[in-house]
Amino acid sequence: MQQHALFDDVTLITPTAAMSPAVHGGRAKCLQRLIRLDLPVPTTVALSFDAIRGIARGRMPDVPAILSHFGPAPLLSVRPSSQDPDWGGPGAILNIGMNDERHALMRPRIGEAAATGLYLRFIQSYAVHVARLDPEPFHLPDVADAAALARMLEAYEDEADETFPQATGVQLAGVLRSMARAWEGTSARLLRQAKGAPADAGLGLVVQAMALGVGPDESGSGVIQFVEPVAGEPQITGRYLSQSQGREALAAGARAMYLTRDDRGASLQDLCPDAFAELVRMGGLIRTRLREEMQIEFTMEAERLFILDAVRVQRSNRAAVRIAVALAEDGAIPPEEAVMRIAPSALSELLHRQVDPAARRDLVVSGIAASPGAASGRIVFGSAEAQASASRGEDCILVRRETTPEDIRGMTAAKAVVTLRGGVTSHAAVIGRGLGVPCVVGASDLVIDRKRRQIVAPDGRRFAEGEIVTVDGTRGEVLAGEPPMLEAAIGGAVETLLGWADRFRDIGVRANADTPRDAQTARNFAAEGIGLCRTEHMFFDGDRIGLMREMIFAEDGDDRRAVLDRLLPLQRDDFARLFDIMAGQPVCIRLFDPPLHEFLPGDTAGLRELAEGLALPLAEVTRRVEALAEYNPMLGMRGVRLGVTVPEIYEMQARAIFEATVEASRSGAPVVPEIMIPLVSAMREVELVKGRIDAVAAAVKAETGRDFTYRLGVMVETPRACLRAGDIAAHAAFLSFGTNDLTQMTYGLSRDDAGRFMSAYVAQGVYEEDPFHLLDTEGVGELVQIGAERGRRGRPDITLSICGEHGGSRRAIEFCRDRGFDYVSCSPFRVPAARLAAAQLAI
Ligand code: PEP
Ligand code: MG
Repeated sequence: MQQHALFDDVTLITPTAAMSPAVHGGRAKCLQRLIRLDLPVPTTVALSFDAIRGIARGRMPDVPAILSHFGPAPLLSVRPSSQDPDWGGPGAILNIGMNDERHALMRPRIGEAAATGLYLRFIQSYAVHVARLDPEPFHLPDVADAAALARMLEAYEDEADETFPQATGVQLAGVLRSMARAWEGTSARLLRQAKGAPADAGLGLVVQAMALGVGPDESGSGVIQFVEPVAGEPQITGRYLSQSQGREALAAGARAMYLTRDDRGASLQDLCPDAFAELVRMGGLIRTRLREEMQIEFTMEAERLFILDAVRVQRSNRAAVRIAVALAEDGAIPPEEAVMRIAPSALSELLHRQVDPAARRDLVVSGIAASPGAASGRIVFGSAEAQASASRGEDCILVRRETTPEDIRGMTAAKAVVTLRGGVTSHAAVIGRGLGVPCVVGASDLVIDRKRRQIVAPDGRRFAEGEIVTVDGTRGEVLAGEPPMLEAAIGGAVETLLGWADRFRDIGVRANADTPRDAQTARNFAAEGIGLCRTEHMFFDGDRIGLMREMIFAEDGDDRRAVLDRLLPLQRDDFARLFDIMAGQPVCIRLFDPPLHEFLPGDTAGLRELAEGLALPLAEVTRRVEALAEYNPMLGMRGVRLGVTVPEIYEMQARAIFEATVEASRSGAPVVPEIMIPLVSAMREVELVKGRIDAVAAAVKAETGRDFTYRLGVMVETPRACLRAGDIAAHAAFLSFGTNDLTQMTYGLSRDDAGRFMSAYVAQGVYEEDPFHLLDTEGVGELVQIGAERGRRGRPDITLSICGEHGGSRRAIEFCRDRGFDYVSCSPFRVPAARLAAAQLAI
């Protein structure tokens, strides 16, 4: 990247000099801002990225011209100024210009020890970092006297085969050359690229006159900031060390003092109250004018204060939110900017407990990060054990090969879940996110030793049932033992930020919520309704699974209806509670979707239990269960296909919804339920189901004498439904794109098995990312686009939304927003991040 002709290679930083972070780096630009504020910044010259590239290739800029800005016999420092401070750069070098003559001149002024100490430190850093000599002979002596200096100069001559350079210009050129080359080195390049720097990232350098920090009267150096870095609360923090220079000395100096008056010992406030007050004043000015919390590096030279540098305060995600909101509340930045400053992913991390980033991590196994947050507990291998453990008040971690709907109770009882199989849309992952239970899936290097009731880690370590492990669902790791945790933090600044986000965003955000608990979470996170209630999850609770099994084993429609009549009040109650919690917000209920055999036991013990419950011979039960088995159940008898062929189930559900509607509308505002038909591939399916649901609605109206309306919609999750959306829309008030199944069917990729080869596919660049995780806007997206366009053509006022797991991601939100969708729907815990991402797209 060549710089613009507007900018010089070497620029004296003045308030009006032409400077840009993209040409001179962030530090140089920041120093210019400080200079514009009229702060006491020593004279500084910036060298552009191009200048440093030139130096690395052997083209030294005009060094005497650089020096001419600093007056006679200057002492200088050189610091890196990369475009983004996170990309690093070579360490600062101080006291350039120190030589025999200067040493002799300084001795009477600042004292023998201080002058010699300064010279010794410069020779040392020049020898090690510039001349690249073996550091061994250059250790700093305990006593900085003439003998020590003579030894150090002699060591330099021995190691470098030349005397220590005395000319400031030679020293400065050496420093510039070594820094330019260090930036081009392979390890520095790899390190910064790992932090997101482009291959051609440039380095700028700033050459600054030294403020001494050593000598008579009070001299020293320090750093100060005005917030603490963990929670971002206002608090003056930092250190000051008398007779020292620079950050490194400060970090190493055990004698450093606090800044504010403190009973722990001496403070700068006591020592130099005026300078301290001045620092606080300057800090306030920097915060408002740089519109950021900065850490300021300062030096006192004989009680005169200098500001050398300022960098963005390092901060946790929690602090980042607090700081952005405080800056906006104080009018330093507009709320839009506060919204833009926080990464949505940082926000979702705050809503869950986390392993303390400072904790030591003893890794057992890595897998896929499927549901964020962290929890510790005792290992259990089954849902019954998980429930038993929860009833004893003991935290447990459920470890399974994979989970099935039968495990829902175990997952609710467990503090976290680990599965060996599955990807980001596997059952465990979807349910984990819905429940807010941390979850790691696809931990395929883990072995479950059933006989010994142990798990075996890839390194051979064994962990028995009952041993404590920790699941970090944010990073996708299982850890041994119980590392320290940071608690979740919602409320306060997070809520303020999200309130602002809601003002700016222009697409709705609903939640996928199946249970009253999910719905409550959705409300707490200010979701604008439920976009997907997967009703089948309601059938795994308590006694209901028994009733479901009876229903599945019913001989005919009448028998089936009789069992469903017993399920009806339970379902009605489910829906009434959802309507109640959502308090007038829309609730979109999806009719029964999974294959029936998911409700049947998979092992002999379960089959025996079922046979007992149904008073049928085991052989008969086994035969019937086998008869329900399918080669490819995800493409088999599920969704609307059940609705068409076993209509009693949908009829019962529709009745439950309508009766709950009547009930809820009696006590509050009228409820307009939304009913959604899953897995549609043909218009006639919708027509058939709609006819029956309309009939149920008419019956409930007649029985109760109450009128109500409802909206019937279609879940678009097969490629054919996208292609035929125009026809389908004739019978649908809304279309909701189920991108989990749509991805599965577009790629011909099993959502439950893809985990096995997904990492190889991503590693070899076949897929950019797991398409179940990151919406494939090209392929799946094209189908969604076709579906949306044709749907709109079929019915111009149709409501469009997305409810697959992608719904909460920035990419999917952007995609849907660009196409004028009405809302996205995602797991309740992703709602805050989705609100923020949607706002950022709109700003
Ligand atoms: C989908 O397929 O995208 C969807 C939301 O439904 P489910 O995940 O329940 O199949
Ligand atoms: Mg689906």
